Amino acid sequence: MKVHEYQAKEVFARYGVPIPRGRVAETPEQAEAIARELGVRCIVKSQVHVGGRGKAGGIKLAATPEEAREVASKILGMNIKGLIVKKVLVEEAADIAQEFYLGITVDRAARRNVVMVSAAGGMDIEEVAAKTPEKIAKEHIDPFLGLCDYQCRELIYKGGLPAEVARLATSFLKVLYQVYCDTDATLAEINPLVLTKDNKVIATDAKLIIDDNALYRQKELAPLREESEEDPLEAEAHRRGLTYVHLDGSVGIIGNGAGLVMGTLDVVQRAGGKPANFLDIGGGAKAAVVRDSLEVVLMDPKVKAVFFNIFGGITRCDEVAKGIIEATRTMDIKVPLVVRLTGTREAEGRELLATAASKVQLVPAATMAEAAEKVVALTS
Ligand code: GDP
Ligand code: MN
Repeated sequence: MKVHEYQAKEVFARYGVPIPRGRVAETPEQAEAIARELGVRCIVKSQVHVGGRGKAGGIKLAATPEEAREVASKILGMNIKGLIVKKVLVEEAADIAQEFYLGITVDRAARRNVVMVSAAGGMDIEEVAAKTPEKIAKEHIDPFLGLCDYQCRELIYKGGLPAEVARLATSFLKVLYQVYCDTDATLAEINPLVLTKDNKVIATDAKLIIDDNALYRQKELAPLREESEEDPLEAEAHRRGLTYVHLDGSVGIIGNGAGLVMGTLDVVQRAGGKPANFLDIGGGAKAAVVRDSLEVVLMDPKVKAVFFNIFGGITRCDEVAKGIIEATRTMDIKVPLVVRLTGTREAEGRELLATAASKVQLVPAATMAEAAEKVVALTS
């Protein structure tokens, strides 16, 4: 779950990270009032759950309160990468001498958290990472030892932080790691950490992504979830308790077990198709869950066919077949369904599908590879 910059900054501030003074506005008039209250040159920043707001025109300086109102009226309502701006953060503008990058995330390949530091911070950090990765210093963290002082020194040295920042950087990094752990984050980032012309060090941007699986114990952060900021299909799936990830292809995928579904995505890809989603109905799924899943998958207008890949263990193939048949009777399904059922009660499941009188095109398949080929043929 993503939180807004102003929310992440509130968290960091509680741990002692210096942030600019400022508040959130939902109207241009509020933005003007905040700027007047601050009494200095301000920066007006769109609050949306995407990166690269600066480059998208969602961050603007305002010299006067009137100008703050004017730029806020331009930024509010703006569409940034598909999200509509409903709030802006109005802050005291920093006089920037230099911008740095500090971040922590999960390095899945290393099976460790990784801390990153760079003197090439700011809006081009993605480009720096792609073209000159040596400019980003990295240290993997041993979960038992935590982030050690010697690692901070390495990061500061290899990241090329100047003396004015280096002095404070260890405490910033330790706090960043503490916030990362305490909030169950999968990403904690300060970009840029700014050195001002009068030699102050402040965080002018902050980013936190919280692990969805930890929200049950993040009592303070969990209520910050904003469905309007999410993919609408993922939000709908979440409401129905389904594990669904929206992708951008045309083959709808429904399977049981995360590993099997991941494998199904690979097989479809290898057969030349593009998966439209990941959807795991889990073990022991009943007919109602199957129907619910099919509904969500078919809400995506790009889906041209659906691939059911069921390996019956705890899940009974006849239950899944009943769900599919019930769905075909009660829903207006226009795309073919390719169904591969194997395992517990597969004979009963196949029999049910074969004898069901249905307006929907049901295509049986014996193996995963066969099903993938059939479904790809139907979508291309
Ligand atoms: P992002 O583009 O979504 O990451 O948003 P940031 O908050 O990182 O802002 C992007 C860029 O705007 C920064 O890299 C700075 O160059 C600039 N910026 C942000 N805050 C200030 C500020 O207070 N003063 C000035 N002069 N520039 C700022
Ligand atoms: Mn940023």
